[in-house]
Amino acid sequence: METTPGSLLSGVLYNLSMIDPLELARATEALVCRDGLRKYYRFRPSRFYGGISTADCVGCCLRCVFCWAWNVVVRPAQVGQFYSPQEVAERLLKIARKKRFGQLRISGNEPTIGWAHLMEVLPLVGKGHLFVLETNGILLGANPEYAEDLARFKENLYVRVSLKGTCEEEFSRLTGAKPEGFSLQLKALENLLRRGVRAFPASMVSFSPRENIQALAERLRTIHPAFEEFEVEELILYPHVEERLKKLGICYYTAHKPEGIPPEQV
Ligand code: SF4
Repeated sequence: METTPGSLLSGVLYNLSMIDPLELARATEALVCRDGLRKYYRFRPSRFYGGISTADCVGCCLRCVFCWAWNVVVRPAQVGQFYSPQEVAERLLKIARKKRFGQLRISGNEPTIGWAHLMEVLPLVGKGHLFVLETNGILLGANPEYAEDLARFKENLYVRVSLKGTCEEEFSRLTGAKPEGFSLQLKALENLLRRGVRAFPASMVSFSPRENIQALAERLRTIHPAFEEFEVEELILYPHVEERLKKLGICYYTAHKPEGIPPEQV
């Protein structure tokens, strides 16, 4: 594990004007969704969660400095192909059958963009698998009715809300988005809990001082006592991520090489 001391992201030359994630989600949806289809760039078996069939979608409403899928996130018009909900479900199930996986997910970018498409995929993947919805939570926080929609699938659904940093200020520095976006991420957890949807928070803590991590644990405990033990996400130094952070002069406290990811984060 590499540790870099120094102040968090101070003086970062992150050349983006402040993003409104809801506006960016709308603009992105216009590029990656059409007539019930959504763009994807890959279907694959993945070792995460002990083995999971994975569809990697195109399009996100944040611009995280540590994003491993950056080349897709910033080029939604250029990357990927359109797939129908039926095609996505078939491909996910085919990989799951071949690899004997009990779990499926949409990952890569942000699966809640193009909500109508997602709502058509979920019933098609059936009840024989657990569907893991990996999300930054922005749209789930802004649209409480989304949690109501998900409640229809709650027997076979688990939502992992990945918080970007530990507070509004870190969120904004790490994602290039308005700080209020962090509250939307927390709101997503509240909305899901209210509708009885299984959900759990994770947080990228590699850029966070210890006291901020502790403060987040306390904040999450007020939403649900179990959330105090949120999942820790740490920076993975894929070569393009490392290069980007170097270019931006961004310091971090913890990181792992791709071949050295701790088992509990796989
Ligand atoms: S939310 Fe996820 S996909 Fe979107 S920019 Fe951040 S890390 Fe990348």
